[in-house]
Amino acid sequence: MSCLFCKIAAGEIPSNVIYEDDDVFAFHDISPQAPTHFLVIPKKHIESVMHSTAEEQELLGKLMAKIPEIAKKAGIDGTGVRVVSNSGADAGQSVFHLHFHVLSGRKFGWPPG
Ligand code: 5GP
Ligand code: ZN
Repeated sequence: MSCLFCKIAAGEIPSNVIYEDDDVFAFHDISPQAPTHFLVIPKKHIESVMHSTAEEQELLGKLMAKIPEIAKKAGIDGTGVRVVSNSGADAGQSVFHLHFHVLSGRKFGWPPG
């Protein structure tokens, strides 16, 4: 297994874990872009949002539905949350295992750069 986030989800590479169950893993980003910045990933290796299929419908629905609970655990109090998933190099994806960035604690601009 050569994927960084597969290794993090398996506990082979340490991370600052916020939440874990059989399917979903959440951990703080190593290079936070906001006062709170964590990543939510499926434990199953999926390359990006653009590689998800009907087979992942239940898993990704579960992952999304877990975000509020994980955000609460991370101390987000509801002032505004940005959830982002970069898919592909031009969109800024640097780790090719599907992940949702969850950012909070400051004001965010729109449109994104
Ligand atoms: P992307 O650039 O693919 O949208 O997001 C990848 C994110 O993973 C980046 O925000 C980067 O800081 C984070 N990241 C990369 N390597 C590690 C690591 O080893 N540990 C943690 N916790 N985050 C990482
Ligand atoms: Zn992976």
